[in-house]
Amino acid sequence: MNKTTKKGNNATDSINPFEEMIARLNMAASIVKLDKDVYEIIKSPEKQIHVSLPIKMDNGSTVVFEGHRVIHSTALGPSKGGIRYSMDVNTDEVKALAAWMAFKCAIADIPYGGAKGGIKCDPRSMSKGELERLTRTYTAAMADIFGVDKDIPAPDMNTGQQEMAWIVDEFSKISGAFTPGIVTGKPLHLGGSLGRVEATGRGVVVSALQAMEKLGMDPTKCTAAVQGFGNVGSITAMHFVKHGVKVVGISDHTAAFYNEKGIDIQKAIAYRDKNKGVLKGFKGGTLIKNEEVLTLKVDVIAPCAMEDQITARTNAHKIKAKLIVEGANGPTTANADKILNDKGVTIVPDILANGGGVTVSYFEWVQNRTGYYYSEDEINKRADNWMKKAFENVWQTSVKYKVSMRIAAYIFALEKIEKGIKSRGSY
Ligand code: GLU
Repeated sequence: MNKTTKKGNNATDSINPFEEMIARLNMAASIVKLDKDVYEIIKSPEKQIHVSLPIKMDNGSTVVFEGHRVIHSTALGPSKGGIRYSMDVNTDEVKALAAWMAFKCAIADIPYGGAKGGIKCDPRSMSKGELERLTRTYTAAMADIFGVDKDIPAPDMNTGQQEMAWIVDEFSKISGAFTPGIVTGKPLHLGGSLGRVEATGRGVVVSALQAMEKLGMDPTKCTAAVQGFGNVGSITAMHFVKHGVKVVGISDHTAAFYNEKGIDIQKAIAYRDKNKGVLKGFKGGTLIKNEEVLTLKVDVIAPCAMEDQITARTNAHKIKAKLIVEGANGPTTANADKILNDKGVTIVPDILANGGGVTVSYFEWVQNRTGYYYSEDEINKRADNWMKKAFENVWQTSVKYKVSMRIAAYIFALEKIEKGIKSRGSY
C-alpha cells in the first residue's frame, strides 16, 4: 500500500505508515547526527515473517489468510508488540508498527526491542470458531519465532484476552510446558495482570495531564474529543472524565457524537457492550459526521483509532485543539505534523502517549517470570510513575534540541537503541 495524495497547496501525505516512520527517523537522525552504521541498522527490520494460513471455515470452504510478524529490533531485549486483525494489515503497516514498538519500549524504559504481528482478516465477519482456528494456526506458524526471551506478542487492534488465551494454549501444547509468559494481555486466570486492560488509555490520560501542566491548561476547564471507542479510546475518555476533562465528542467506525454538556462515557461504554461493540444508535449526543470529531472546537483531541487520521490533505489545517494526545499508533502524518507545529499545536506522540499498555505488559511478563502477582493499586502506581518519567524525558529532550515532542521522542529512542547496538557490537 503506497497511496500518495496531493492537496491544492502542494502538501502531500505518503499515507504509507512505514514511510511516515522513516520521515521522522530521518529528521531525528540528522539532528543528533546519528552514527551512519547505526542508522543503517535501525532503519530496517531485523526479521520479517510472512505466512499463508489455510483455515477451514464454518461453511466447509478453505480460506487462506495472510499472516505477518515483523521484528524490528532486539538491540535492547526480546522483541515485544501486539498482533492485529484487520483488512488493512499489510507488510508496510506491520513494519512501521514494529519500529514504533522498538522506539516505544526504549522511551518507556522497559528492557525490550520491538515487533508487531498482523493477520489480514475481517474479524467481525468471522465466527468464534473461525477466529480460534486462525489464531491457533498463526501461533503454530510462529512457534519458532515467539519465545518468552525472544518475541512476546500482545493484543492490538481487534484482538484481546481471548486471542491471547488461545495463543498460550497453542504455544504450551507445542512446547510441552505451560508458558503464560509467551504473551501479555492474557485473562487474569491465565497469569494476566491487573490493570492491563485499562493501561493504555490510563497512560494516554497521564501523558495528557502532564502536557496540560506544562502548557498551563487546567484539566477541569478543558474539553476533549476522542476518536475511536475500542479499548484505548473508551478508557481514555473515561479517564479524562475522572480527571475533570469534559469529553464532548466521541466516535467509532460506525458513528460519531457531540454533546456540549459532556457525554456520559459510562453510558456509552455500556451501550457499546450491549450493541455488538459499536456506538451506532447511541442516544447520548447529537449525531455528527465521523470526520468532524477531530476538528471539533475543543482543547484536546485524542485520536485512538488507527494510522493516518490527521493528514495535510484532509484535516490538519482544520484542527482547533491546542493539544493532541495520540492513543493510536501513527494517527498523524509527517506533513500534518508540519502544519500543526506551525499552528503551535502540541502533539504528545504515539510512541510516548500510548506506552502505558506495553509498560503494564512488561509488569505482566515480570509477574509471570517471578510467579508473584501485584495488586491493581501497585500496578497503576508504578505505571503512572513510569509514564510521568517517560514524558519528562521526552519533554526535556525537546527542550534540549528545540524540537517537537515527536522528534524528541525519536531522538530519545534512537540514542538509547544506539547504545544497545554499539555496546553489543557487530560483525
Ligand atoms: N499493542 C499495544 C501497542 O501498540 C501493546 C503492545 C504490548 O503490550 O506488547 O503498544
